[in-house]
Amino acid sequence: MSEEVKELKKKLLAGEENGYDTISAEDAAAMEDYCAAYKIFLNRGKTERECAAEAVRLAEEKGFRPYHRSMKVQPGDKVYVCNRGKGVMLAVIGTQSLSAGAQIAAAHIDSPRLDLKPNPLYEESEMAYFKTHYYGGLRKYQWVTIPLELHGVIALRNGTTVTVALGAEEGESKFVITDLLPHLGSEQSKKPLSEAIPGESLNILLGSRPMGESDDTDRTRLQIMKLLNEKYGITEDDFTSAELEAVPAGKSVDIGLDRSLIGSYGHDDRVCGYAALAAILELSHPKKTAVCMLADKEEIGSMGVTGMQSAAFDTFMHDLCESQGVLLRECYENSFCLSADVTAAYDPNFADVFEKKNSARINHGLGICKYTGARGKSGASDASAETVAYVRRLLDAADVIWQISELGKVDAGGGGTVAMYMANRNIATLDAGVPVLSMHAPFEVVAKLDCYMTYKGCKAVFEAE
Ligand code: MN
Ligand code: MN
Repeated sequence: MSEEVKELKKKLLAGEENGYDTISAEDAAAMEDYCAAYKIFLNRGKTERECAAEAVRLAEEKGFRPYHRSMKVQPGDKVYVCNRGKGVMLAVIGTQSLSAGAQIAAAHIDSPRLDLKPNPLYEESEMAYFKTHYYGGLRKYQWVTIPLELHGVIALRNGTTVTVALGAEEGESKFVITDLLPHLGSEQSKKPLSEAIPGESLNILLGSRPMGESDDTDRTRLQIMKLLNEKYGITEDDFTSAELEAVPAGKSVDIGLDRSLIGSYGHDDRVCGYAALAAILELSHPKKTAVCMLADKEEIGSMGVTGMQSAAFDTFMHDLCESQGVLLRECYENSFCLSADVTAAYDPNFADVFEKKNSARINHGLGICKYTGARGKSGASDASAETVAYVRRLLDAADVIWQISELGKVDAGGGGTVAMYMANRNIATLDAGVPVLSMHAPFEVVAKLDCYMTYKGCKAVFEAE
């Protein structure tokens, strides 16, 4: 190639660089520490409640205080509100008034899983099971024959709440959903993947050891209930007011001989939630008020009191605005939100559903998405060109390695995030997040470089002037 062509190429054509070609030595080292802390966060937060509790714990360690309505706040103050134990909103008050807008990063901390039904326990053929109702868009066949843990709460009639974590400890027994042996699976194997494991067959095996005499009935079910009663003081009725979630057992681990990736349950979207959290925890005296939103219920449409469509966020922002004599609507129209949620990473094993030129690539950094949605961008907030340009400037100025992409081929499918609910509030919003392999599987994979760059991206948003 002639020098002239080389130069012109560099000047005129867009690059497609692997982040490892441009990452600084300093960032490469910081990335490892950051990812080690992220893995601990994943191990401590297997449900939205556990993530919220861990976020609060980390925030308090960094001097964040619980915010109460009509509390006076000063620039530099660090406050948070935990929404019903399932979501957290954190703010660092800026030197500028909230009338200048807030710099927001919003992610979700709920992940696909198997929830217990309200009448979950039954015995069949002398084995005890829990019936489940899956939460979020999961591929049911992936959830059989893997060890499971059970996390959640049981709210008792007397007003107290019992916290449940079964199988979480090293050496503690786990649970499992069984699958058919191949020897008898020929009919099942002919079915489409989506039908091979029906939702009603996602029943969790709890035990097999009967109690009492051979002519008694319900002996295995009773045994399980006796053990649960001993451990938690509950009776079968108490499942009525419980939220118990079966999640994959095991801890987050490095993947690859080069240790460049992290495998874990729940990257979607704790990988962005942790990035936004870690970024706000280190913030002091930003110019604009920085707000980190860790929402629940994204995987089922962001509805409900703890979802992004809830007024809980508006209430928090309204209260902060009121303390400065600012109108919420004025704050919103000048705010910016990075809707931090994962995107699909290009997977060469399944190249036919991706359009390579517009797919997020592993190790190419924070993936920004102008729009998400499906079937012609339906359900996308579709950020304006100006908003994308604003973020581009921000990220470049902060030395963040980033890429722009969309999720898969045009007609292959799609997805949504909380972006539209932020944008509907009249907040300029752009989607951005970590590319994930095997998204929504019990074990998802992300690249360390992309995790760290997402953290840097959130930091850049919070520190923007
Ligand atoms: Mn997500
Ligand atoms: Mn998801």
